[in-house]
Amino acid sequence: MQALTDRVKPVDRRPLNFVEKLYIPAILKGMGITFKHIFKKKATVNYPEETRPFSPVFRGLHILNRDEEGRERCTACGLCAVACPAEAITMEAAERKPGEEKLYREEKYAASYEINMLRCIFCGFCEEACPKDAIYLTETFAPSNYDRKGFIYGKDDLLIPDPKKK
Ligand code: SF4
Ligand code: SF4
Repeated sequence: MQALTDRVKPVDRRPLNFVEKLYIPAILKGMGITFKHIFKKKATVNYPEETRPFSPVFRGLHILNRDEEGRERCTACGLCAVACPAEAITMEAAERKPGEEKLYREEKYAASYEINMLRCIFCGFCEEACPKDAIYLTETFAPSNYDRKGFIYGKDDLLIPDPKKK
């Protein structure tokens, strides 16, 4: 059969001679490769003590932003959910009541807001779609978890602390 690429290497099926049966040349060759790598710069880092610098365009864990007065910016318009190719975002809208003007910037707000991090592909479309500058992708990544439910990030996990209370 004709090979599709020129990367095919024919297998040498000759019976091993006496020296080859001792495997010593092969072992020495392997040890030589190992020693050569000892003096090379390590390709790995001692994570988590050491971390690699992020790319300037890295997109990590989301945050829900507040305005300068500490009010929630999200108005539950749903544009981020519509833009999300992974259908990872769900939310429930609620109407702001009189007296809640200091909590929510708009007349409508997200009573609940969830992102399923197991679906998210960190594309950043939600951030681009948001007309209220309410959602951002940060330079942090979602921590590992043994529980699938732990990857459903709710509003409490996503909303940044109120700068006025800090
Ligand atoms: S980053 Fe992309 S995949 Fe993740 S929630 Fe936003 S739009 Fe969806
Ligand atoms: S995060 Fe932005 S786009 Fe998404 S519902 Fe809130 S205001 Fe709309």
